[in-house]
Amino acid sequence: MRLKTKLTLGIGFLFLVIVIFGAFGLISIHRLKEDSDKVLRNNYETLVYNNNMLKALEQLRTDSLAMRLFENNLEQQEKNVTEPGEKEGTLQLRQSFEKLRLNKNDDLAKAGIRQSIQLINDLNQEAILRKNQLARERTGSAATWMTIIFTILALLAFTLVVNFPGVISNPIRQLAAGISAIANKNYSRRIHLSQKDEFGDLANAFNVMAEKLDEYEHSNLARIKFEKSRIEAVINNMRDAIIGFDEKKQILFMNSVAESLIGIRERDVVGKYGPDIAIRNDLMRTLLQDEVRPELEIFADGKKSYFVNERIEVRNEDARIGEVIVLRNITPFHELDEAKTNFIATVSHELKTPISSIKMSARLLDDPRVGNMNKEQQELLHSIKDDADRLLKITSELLNMSQVETGNIQLKLQSSPPDEIVTQAVQAVLFQAQQKQLHLKTSIQSSLPHVMADIEKTSWVMINFLTNAIRYAPESSSIEVEAVLKNDKVSFSVRDHGIGIDEKYLTKIFDRYYKVPGNYEKSGTGLGLAISREFIEAQGGNIWVESRIGEGSRFGFDFPVVAG
Ligand code: ADP
Repeated sequence: MRLKTKLTLGIGFLFLVIVIFGAFGLISIHRLKEDSDKVLRNNYETLVYNNNMLKALEQLRTDSLAMRLFENNLEQQEKNVTEPGEKEGTLQLRQSFEKLRLNKNDDLAKAGIRQSIQLINDLNQEAILRKNQLARERTGSAATWMTIIFTILALLAFTLVVNFPGVISNPIRQLAAGISAIANKNYSRRIHLSQKDEFGDLANAFNVMAEKLDEYEHSNLARIKFEKSRIEAVINNMRDAIIGFDEKKQILFMNSVAESLIGIRERDVVGKYGPDIAIRNDLMRTLLQDEVRPELEIFADGKKSYFVNERIEVRNEDARIGEVIVLRNITPFHELDEAKTNFIATVSHELKTPISSIKMSARLLDDPRVGNMNKEQQELLHSIKDDADRLLKITSELLNMSQVETGNIQLKLQSSPPDEIVTQAVQAVLFQAQQKQLHLKTSIQSSLPHVMADIEKTSWVMINFLTNAIRYAPESSSIEVEAVLKNDKVSFSVRDHGIGIDEKYLTKIFDRYYKVPGNYEKSGTGLGLAISREFIEAQGGNIWVESRIGEGSRFGFDFPVVAG
């Protein structure tokens, strides 16, 4: 049944109850009124007429109008005959009255009149009693019926009042519960309403919606699961070790390469706090340290491998949601690099001897005892000497570099006087400086404390600074070489007034093979300053540069003084 029909029936029923009860009440009241009216009209009035006739009969002798009054009342009584036997009594009364009219002193007639009136009175009084009894009975039965009807209707109305709100509120409650379940993503929730009304339609529509949402959720879930397993497969098949952390440093995942390198299984550590794992695991500790290491040497699977550690912050809309540590396996590059360094070391070492013999032969050729050369031959010989010098410089730089790269720098550290280092370097470049008419101004602070240094390697660095200064300084300019005490350190520097270096390149010029774009000598290797830095830092010093484009450069290094 439709909700609208139910509402109509419910309210209609209550309306009917009111109408029936009201109608029954009205009818009962009306009937009671009619009954009492009848008693009044039919019987009480007769008593009044009879009483008047009796009074008139008594006044017949004295009152001349008494006869007339009697007749009027008799006529009224004749019109108001209602009870059985009353008609006969009234007829006798008329006959006796007619006799009395003829003879006012007819006592027999008077006695007949009194008797008839008495009879009529008795009949009417009996009728009043009877009718009263009847009315009482009717009232009683009406009250009984009204009580019965009232009870039945009240029971029905009560049942309706008790049950009807439930007809509306129960399905609404179920619907509300279903909607809140859907809001909480419980898409398996269904509403079961047996009724075939508007609520039933609503429940069906709700169930269809929940089913669709359920299907959508499942298809989405399946897709997300598939995507997740695909990403996991990609991560697991990578040759680099990968470990994911959430924003609280709890481990989220770890691929198989990471498992074998770190020596722990993913399922044992997922969800655990990274630093807790680091307490028991050295490699994890190293990985979680903030200090940046150029490369990590890890012994795993029976061989030594090299990795670079990269920490990638994972952000989502500006919020940091985690971190991924990637350990990139650089062993193949390392092996190639080692092979290259070995090759360079071998080649440069092997080249040194023939270059030295070329230089020796060139010097012998230059000796007049070997024979005189014409001008052209002398120029050629000069160029051979220059090239041999350059070749020797390059091979010595390559050899130094290979030593630096293999970590084989052989340092002979000793307490050294700074002036010796400076003098040795200046001596080595005097000839080159003269050729460009450069003024080498040496300034060594008197009684400088000794420094702990390898004289040969430190002079090599100074020579490198000086060679560069000579190369980039304009002819006839001056180059200042200085050794001073500054903040408990002996500071060595070479200043030129050459082309200078743009500020943006200053951080790079100490890198291997780096040459400032545009201003470098083609013959340079870009290794001199890189080797210099390695040499100085290996001895505990620090190297620096100050330069302004167009104004010249100042290269230097500082060494701590020897204690005591
Ligand atoms: P190279 O052997 O090529 O000179 P270096 O490592 O000694 O290599 O120098 C690196 C680069 O720094 C050079 O190529 C040059 O461009 C720049 N440079 C070095 N010294 C000076 C200087 N005194 N004035 C200007 N540029 C310089």
